[in-house]
Amino acid sequence: MNNIISYNNKGAKDRSPNYDTFVTEAILEDICFRLTNDKTYCVEKNDSERNVGRLIKLKDTKNKKIYFINLSQEGVIKGRNYYFQSISTALEKFFDEKVDREYDKQFCFYFMPFEGNIKTDYYIFLFRIMETAGIKFVNKDSVFNNHEITTFTSMRDLINERNILKQSNAGNQSTYISDDGDSYGIYGKTFGTNVKETILLCLAAINISEKQIKLYQILDNDSESIGEKDKMLINEFSKQSKINNIEIIDDTLEFEEKCNANNLRSPRFNYNLLNKYGGIKKCAICGCEIEQIIQGAHIYPVAEIRKNQTLSNEQKYNYATHKDNGMWLCENHHKLFDSGVMSFVKNKVVFNDIKKKSDEEFLKEITKYKELSNEIYNSEMEKFFKLRYNYI
Ligand SMILES: [Zn+2]
Repeated sequence: MNNIISYNNKGAKDRSPNYDTFVTEAILEDICFRLTNDKTYCVEKNDSERNVGRLIKLKDTKNKKIYFINLSQEGVIKGRNYYFQSISTALEKFFDEKVDREYDKQFCFYFMPFEGNIKTDYYIFLFRIMETAGIKFVNKDSVFNNHEITTFTSMRDLINERNILKQSNAGNQSTYISDDGDSYGIYGKTFGTNVKETILLCLAAINISEKQIKLYQILDNDSESIGEKDKMLINEFSKQSKINNIEIIDDTLEFEEKCNANNLRSPRFNYNLLNKYGGIKKCAICGCEIEQIIQGAHIYPVAEIRKNQTLSNEQKYNYATHKDNGMWLCENHHKLFDSGVMSFVKNKVVFNDIKKKSDEEFLKEITKYKELSNEIYNSEMEKFFKLRYNYI
């Protein structure tokens, strides 16, 4: 027999069923035939070990390949990310496990029989992310038409698709990707199942990004940073890509420490702006959308926040990262704002200290919006403008 299928039979938890109750002969035969073009196989079941990562292995001794196959959830489809929970665990096993030298190993995903709809925009996006990350779908054609799940060809492509999805799914706080000029920033939530989405996004980005990727971990009150195993997984992927190109940035410092370390600049500020504007980076004054030159500009500046002795450390951190203590500005308008050439009276744009007629004309030309729109401006922002300009 050329093909050996092996798996741990016990469910991951006490109450989960044994694998041989739902991994039927028909399923095993289907997997075997699709991957090796041969329907015959023998099974080696391990009845004492738990199956972590919904994983079965297929050893093709003829072609010297070992497939690690992550099985999707079977049965009725439940909420967001339900399908994707076990992938990173399965991938960890894939990287951890040594195989004979003459064998190639390949990571695969198999769609188990299900009831419900997995053709939602969000699921399709994640399947495309998986394909981009190099995960092989064993039986994609049993669920999708060929053109439905394609790889992303560039980060631009991925970011655009992501933003379209965000707009149709407003208020859905999760992971943002942004072109920050010298790097791509992945601003990832590490809470609950969002972490799996963040990890998949990283794995896909590693394969297609032409520049450095920075993963900023955005922690919620009680959430922990990405686990060591997931970090290792991301690093393993990065090592195997052409350019070793990912940096994982821990945002685990408490705000007390941040204040003491004079480090109030936090990726959370950018994350909060991305979240406020649905992932879109656009200069509030000229409307420029060239992401690489769009920056998060503080209204009440970080340097002033730090010096303000009436604020507690907690307030300082809150001010420094508040979504309404800032706006997106292009490099030009950011500089004009910080130098005082451009200022605001309430939501109105004012220019000061203009010496030459030509300067005045230039400013006129690059100023599309003479006031901040209602979508941007609110009473919280007004508070930060008051603090910046020191009036009551
Ligand atoms: Zn601008």
